[in-house]
Amino acid sequence: MSTLRSRLTAIYATALVATLFVFAIALWGARRAASLQELQRYVFTEANLALSLVRNAELAGQPVTEVRDSIVGPAITPQLRTLLEGIPDYVLVLDSNGRSLYVSFAARQLSADELASLQQHAINAPTSGLAVIVPFGGERLLMAARAPVRESQISRVVVASSTRSAELAVGELVGTMLVIAPLLLLISIGGAYVIAGRALRPIDGIINEVQAITDGRSLHRRLPAGGAGDELERLTTTLNEMMERLERSFAALRRFTADASHELKTPLAVLRADVERAMTPNVPPAERLVALEEALHETTRMADLVESLLTLARADERRFDLHLEPVPLEALVREVFETAVILGEAGGLTVTMPVVEPVTVAGDPTRLRQLFLNLITNAIKYTPRGGSVELTLESFGKTVAFSVRDTGVGISAADLTHIFERFWRADRARSRPLLTGDRPWMAERGGFGLGLAIGQWIAEAHGGSISVRSRLGRGSTFTVTLPVADPARRDAGVEELPEGKATQSARSA
Ligand code: ADP
Repeated sequence: MSTLRSRLTAIYATALVATLFVFAIALWGARRAASLQELQRYVFTEANLALSLVRNAELAGQPVTEVRDSIVGPAITPQLRTLLEGIPDYVLVLDSNGRSLYVSFAARQLSADELASLQQHAINAPTSGLAVIVPFGGERLLMAARAPVRESQISRVVVASSTRSAELAVGELVGTMLVIAPLLLLISIGGAYVIAGRALRPIDGIINEVQAITDGRSLHRRLPAGGAGDELERLTTTLNEMMERLERSFAALRRFTADASHELKTPLAVLRADVERAMTPNVPPAERLVALEEALHETTRMADLVESLLTLARADERRFDLHLEPVPLEALVREVFETAVILGEAGGLTVTMPVVEPVTVAGDPTRLRQLFLNLITNAIKYTPRGGSVELTLESFGKTVAFSVRDTGVGISAADLTHIFERFWRADRARSRPLLTGDRPWMAERGGFGLGLAIGQWIAEAHGGSISVRSRLGRGSTFTVTLPVADPARRDAGVEELPEGKATQSARSA
């Protein structure tokens, strides 16, 4: 199974092998260079020693060569030869013709071919103080040549030593490393596996906890906070915050579904009773007509509710239809004011509009009318007879504010935080029969507590907002603030809105 733990261990092992490999190569290279350098020093010391033996003899006025055999030619004197035999490596003393005046004991053990090859290399070796590596049979030689400064029969003294000893030492080191490395690797991988397991144990705990939260009902559970301030604590906090949001959304969804079902249940029951009454034999035609009228009314109410629910569902999914165009608000507000006056008269209220300024916004006129009418009908609905409702449309530079002020029942401070929630009404039981009783038009659009939620969405979808100020028993003021369309732009459309909204509207177009 490919777990994070085994993956981490594998990555660690690969990194370790690569590091060990690089380390071994570097060590091998450094060790080899050092060994060769050491050998070079040793070979030069030997060459200098051989040269000083020759020179000392010359300086002492002793002969360095003699001719014992006329066929063989001159050779080093026996005294010098005895001294030179003390040097263990290949030592050659050559004359100016390249002839060997002295061949050391080690060199004399070589075959004729090998000796010839050694002599050839000795003739070519530089006397500048540089040692050279020359191939020699199956091995290599490090060769140092020195030339006497004085006029002499001897042209050069050459010492050569096999590099095998230096390379053997390096080879031993690499061999030791090769033996130790797998052992080291095994111990390290074992250690890494245990450490990774320990480090990841809290993640296992988090996985088990999250797995236990299988449905919406377990969302109240929270992961225990670590408190170490590390990544795991951040993960726990993030997951806890996410679950809190999910819990809130689930609760809102459940409440919304329950509220929607409840709101549909009543009109459906009324509808059923009306239809049953209309179908009862021997019912007078007038009574049947009343039952059918009521059924029609409830159907309209249900259609309204379904329409509102659909609008909110689309708004939630950001899949709504907003037909944006430049909207002269003054004309729109005058139009809704006329409706407000008619509705106000029916409710015994005074409706006025003291301030209205000409201003254009980029918006959907149908939706804006719906928003303004909702605020006006609410103001009229929640203001007792004799009260007043005042509309104003004021421009403030880049924004415009449409306000609806009433002298009605007002909203308590505690309720103010809820009025934009879906299906929320200050007094569910009382609001319909009490306040709509004297206003037959209200009965057609009885409150579901969705109007302000939809109004808030409309305002925000236009890049604006909606706010409220109210005091219980003193009346309320609802204000919609919208951004003014830029007069410099002819196409006061989609681009006028904040980015998110523009996308939404563009998608719906
Ligand atoms: P509804 O259709 O019930 O009026 P809204 O969403 O429009 O739904 O309003 C939600 C609640 O806010 C109302 O039920 C009412 O309690 C309160 N409300 C709204 N407008 C006013 C107002 N002008 N005066 C007093 N209360 C108001």
